[in-house]
Amino acid sequence: MIETCDSPGLLPIQSAIYTMLKQVHPILESEQIELEDSLGRVLAVDVESNINVPPNDNSAMDGYAMRCEDLIGNNTLQLVGTALAGAPFRQKVLPGQCIRIMTGAVIPQGADSVVMQENTETKDGFVIFKQIPEFGNSVRKAGEDIQQGMVVVTKGTKLTPAYLALIASVGMAEISVIRNLKVGLIATGDELTPPGQALTDGAIYESNRYALTALLKTFPVVVFDFGIVKDNKDDLKAVFEQAGSHCDLVLSCGGVSVGDADYVKEILDDLGSINFWKVAIKPGKPFAFGQLGKACFCGLPGNPVSSYVTFEQLVTPVLQKLSGQTYRPTPHFVAKAACLIKKRPGRADYQRGIFYRDGQGELLVKPNGKQGSGIMSSIANANCYMVLEQDTGDVQVGENVNIQPF
Ligand code: AMP
Ligand code: MG
Repeated sequence: MIETCDSPGLLPIQSAIYTMLKQVHPILESEQIELEDSLGRVLAVDVESNINVPPNDNSAMDGYAMRCEDLIGNNTLQLVGTALAGAPFRQKVLPGQCIRIMTGAVIPQGADSVVMQENTETKDGFVIFKQIPEFGNSVRKAGEDIQQGMVVVTKGTKLTPAYLALIASVGMAEISVIRNLKVGLIATGDELTPPGQALTDGAIYESNRYALTALLKTFPVVVFDFGIVKDNKDDLKAVFEQAGSHCDLVLSCGGVSVGDADYVKEILDDLGSINFWKVAIKPGKPFAFGQLGKACFCGLPGNPVSSYVTFEQLVTPVLQKLSGQTYRPTPHFVAKAACLIKKRPGRADYQRGIFYRDGQGELLVKPNGKQGSGIMSSIANANCYMVLEQDTGDVQVGENVNIQPF
């Protein structure tokens, strides 16, 4: 085996994801909530439609509805009434007749086609048609969007604004969703000071919880923030124990490597178990996964970029599975390296990049400045990850690079 600076014995990222997904079991408890409160929640049962959408044949245009065969060899029909959306024409349209019809109005009995207003003229109670329509012209058929009995959204779907509209369109005001996950968040480190307070000698501001809390908000979770805990084994153990008994998932950041003040692994050995704690990912090699009491546990590295990247790449699949969603790997796109991209074989590297199109329309990508694991601006000002495979080395100018846009 080639010894690199990245040391052997690291779990490849795909194996880490596979191991975690195998170990994590979806939450099954569900609750009934108002549709309007369901954005971002995960559907617990299939939504089936009791109706056709649209419920009736209706007009796609403002114009005139008639029987299209009446316009063979004839261009003039008698105007006998009006249909508006929500106010149907309740009689039958007879041969030789037509009605004025507005978009969304039900096509009355007898009529089968619509000609848009712009292709007609009216005169003395008659309509002169300048277009001979085909059968069914400008008619939206009943059930053309959704048929009665059809599953419109499957269980395990995370609800987006478009799904909310789709569910509303079949008339449901309440739906069954998986209950929110309880996620505990713990920052560890003697040096960590909350923003807003003065910094003492050797201290830094705690920033990871701000990013992690914000990232968590895009999932169906309730966050239990256990704050900053000092590098003291007893304090840490007490907080970990509490988090493990209250939460479905506990995330800690910091203290997960092999320094003198890194107690996470020891505590997990006492209170639960560690499945793995070194992943071949850069940034973020020390990433622990295991069980803490009844909760799943992910120990994120303390370096700000590492905690952010490991959350997105490694915690996201866990959250998806726990919340009943199907795990969907983030899609990659291919761009060409605009400059040399430095990379050492040994770990999959999630460098922060900027992608753009050049004058010829070609998609290019370049690293966004320094890539150190403490340099948070490398993420904040970037627009994608450049995903560099574990075993590859430098990427030369013009070579393909997989990117994950933010
Ligand atoms: P650790 O993983 O505890 O060895 O921390 C690695 C580096 O990340 C150290 O420079 C820490 O000061 C820094 N760090 C750890 N936790 C945080 C945090 N919550 N916010 C900002 N920086 C942190
Ligand atoms: Mg620390």
